[in-house]
Amino acid sequence: MRTAVGTHGTLHRADDLQKRHDTQQTLPTLLCDSPGCGASLTFVPEHSRRRPGHAEPLHVPAYIDLSRGAEHRPGCRYDAPGHLQALLAAGADADFLPPLGEGKHELRLLILQQGLKRSGAERHDADPVLAGYLRTLAELLTLRAMCGSDDLLAANVTVRLGKKKVDWSSFFYTQDRYDEAWERLGATSTDLPLALVGTVRSHRATQPGSVYLNCAPKYQHTGVTDRRDFYEISVGHSDAAWLQSFPVGAEILMFGLWRQGRTTTSSRPHPTDPRRTITNVTHKLALWPSVKHQLVRVE
Ligand SMILES: [Zn+2]
Repeated sequence: MRTAVGTHGTLHRADDLQKRHDTQQTLPTLLCDSPGCGASLTFVPEHSRRRPGHAEPLHVPAYIDLSRGAEHRPGCRYDAPGHLQALLAAGADADFLPPLGEGKHELRLLILQQGLKRSGAERHDADPVLAGYLRTLAELLTLRAMCGSDDLLAANVTVRLGKKKVDWSSFFYTQDRYDEAWERLGATSTDLPLALVGTVRSHRATQPGSVYLNCAPKYQHTGVTDRRDFYEISVGHSDAAWLQSFPVGAEILMFGLWRQGRTTTSSRPHPTDPRRTITNVTHKLALWPSVKHQLVRVE
């Protein structure tokens, strides 16, 4: 969670709580802000976590979590297990989301991958069945985005692409893992359906008839002096008004068949030391949705 209320109903945001934490101020008592819930919450300051196979640790932004032993009331908008079971029951489908028993389901990406390829090639509206699957997926991904980790979804939904089981961590990527999404796409030659969550940073018209929506990039510490790596995420479409309906600052989910763009390198003099040069390497991932349900706003 990113917001909570205090005992007098004051709204607190994770960013503001981080500032208080940094200046060693006392933190307020935090309660769930969903109407009628009031579960006890705890602020978790930003920190870094080691990743297996990566030299650089992962930066985890500040967030608000349930206090130990506390639970959201049924019907609270953060009652993720309750919402998940309701979503799975409503979206259950023999082809796309078949039940596996004991409340668990399988999520079959192949049907989406093939449907998106088809609608991309034909350039007309998606068939209603594909649109329905994408809506169900968007609801599951929104829930995942609100959870803060893969645990709940991974315990209940097995993702499969054809015969292959796909880990949630190889399917759903937050801003702090854009580099891993980029690497995953580079390692395969087939169109891989991936879900990315990001924050809208800008809209840019590139040429008549197409607009890009850009998300806040990931800045990757490389450990190499004066070299900085960026991972940029863009969505392109000819409907500028539609892309602009996702305002700057909004958190959005982007699902589909991503492509790596051309990696660019630029250099500039170090601001204070004339003997040094700063090199920026920009890696790009782009999505051209063929169906508008591939992009949804979280919240
Ligand atoms: Zn709650």
